[in-house]
Amino acid sequence: MVDIDNLLKNISREQEEVHASERAKQYNIGYINLIGYPLTKEILEIIPVDEATKFKIIPYLKIGNQLRVGVVSPNPEIDTYLEGIGKVIGLKPTQFLMSESSFQYSLTFYDKYAAEEMTKAITRQKEVTEETNYDIKDIKGAAELAKRASTTKLLDTLLIGAAKLNSSDIHLEPSEDEFLTRYRIDGVLQDIVRLPLLQYKQIISRIKFMSKLRMDMNDQPQDGRFSFMLPGDEEINFRVSIMPSAYGESLVLRLLGQEKTILKLDDLGFRPEALAVIKEEISKPHGMVLTSGPTGSGKSSTLYSILIELKKPGIKIITLEDPVEYKIEGIEQSQIKPGAGYEFADGLRASLRQDPDVLMVGEIRDGETAEIAVQAALTGHLLLSTIHANSAPAVFARFLEIGVQPFLLSGSINLIMAQRLVRKVCPFCKQTYTASPEVWQSILDIVASAKSRMPKEIIDKIDSNDMTLVEAKGCDKCSHTGFSGRQVIVEMITPDEHIESMIAKKATISEFEKIAADYGMITMEQDGMMKVLLGQTTVEEVWRVTKS
Ligand SMILES: [Zn+2]
Repeated sequence: MVDIDNLLKNISREQEEVHASERAKQYNIGYINLIGYPLTKEILEIIPVDEATKFKIIPYLKIGNQLRVGVVSPNPEIDTYLEGIGKVIGLKPTQFLMSESSFQYSLTFYDKYAAEEMTKAITRQKEVTEETNYDIKDIKGAAELAKRASTTKLLDTLLIGAAKLNSSDIHLEPSEDEFLTRYRIDGVLQDIVRLPLLQYKQIISRIKFMSKLRMDMNDQPQDGRFSFMLPGDEEINFRVSIMPSAYGESLVLRLLGQEKTILKLDDLGFRPEALAVIKEEISKPHGMVLTSGPTGSGKSSTLYSILIELKKPGIKIITLEDPVEYKIEGIEQSQIKPGAGYEFADGLRASLRQDPDVLMVGEIRDGETAEIAVQAALTGHLLLSTIHANSAPAVFARFLEIGVQPFLLSGSINLIMAQRLVRKVCPFCKQTYTASPEVWQSILDIVASAKSRMPKEIIDKIDSNDMTLVEAKGCDKCSHTGFSGRQVIVEMITPDEHIESMIAKKATISEFEKIAADYGMITMEQDGMMKVLLGQTTVEEVWRVTKS
């Protein structure tokens, strides 16, 4: 018996291909039948599945400087898209007409590879990273490995290098014929390596692919994120920011941390008595604990350390963040989407209905959020947040400025901190030297008003006029920077009745500063100089972060 259905199907399939090849002639392009064509994962990766589906296009072959792409219905939009892709990957896309069946058949390869990817991703990348010995100990080591890396392994090398050197960000900056990779280590950008521009294009397209960003767009900013598996099975998340620049797109990759990389509150470098105040204030069942400082001052790291300190069974903690910088188990973390109808104020209102004990709001930057935060703090919640202000006294003025009522504010604040981070002198190449009389005098002038409240060790040093300070020349262990790790310098206020009366009369920043000084606040600069006198950091370092 002849299977009529099958026969008719085969005839109509043949007709479909005949029809496709005729249409190819009309468009004056080649024709391709992709049924049974062995599409590789590498070639499909050039065009993400969403774009392939939207435009009905399938990349299928790289030949010479040509990228061959199957297309069902050629149109100008596809031309523009492919032109963009071509620029990114440095190949010339050439279109070949294919039938709808060819397209549907090819599309199944995306699913097939995606499924394989799911099961194999972890092991496969682990194999790749373990093939190479990523024994990166310093900047020089990272640079040498990057120079030797093949184009396919270069990105892995740069990502792993950044993680190994405890960088917070990777900057990739193209110029006329090369691109510069820089890592931000301990808050300072360090040049790592300059490499040929040719390799840059591949890096960008791989990052865009991993972050599901538009491959064809290179004249507008884009943001995304991706995860990457480090050798030793540690997953790390990157936030990607792409900006068009004169010589192509500049990239900044922020390394987002893991719970286990969050430092304990005790290890951030707070003075013992400052640490005691923080612990007391965060143990209260309600009120606000706020940190302030510019970007990179470590203010959110402090909040994360506090969250880890507070996290225990029986306590419900909700955070509202933009972005979620660390994922913490046992805490409900919500990603705010500014401009998309989910602002901090919306998140705060919603979380209050979830009956939390502790709330963390990434940032208070408008009156509405401030108002709800204050209400939350007054109604039995411990509220942690950051606010933009240059000093601890300035935080009060900032709250009043964005419209919080003085009578609400004065009862709601447990603790205000302002902080910066100073780099610690490398213990391996640390040396002592005698300060010049001018520098010594300026240190004494700075600490004078707080001297009576300083530890005996410092008071003795000042009284005996011991002008010995520390500096570091740099060694292999600190990538020749002379520094290793950072610590907090902080000023803090727990409002008392004097501060409260200033709030009531809506005092200015300088009035708040004066009263804070009168009541014995140790300033960030004083805290920094105490750390200089204790031989932990340098005078220049304290001035670098406090004088800006
Ligand atoms: Zn050193």
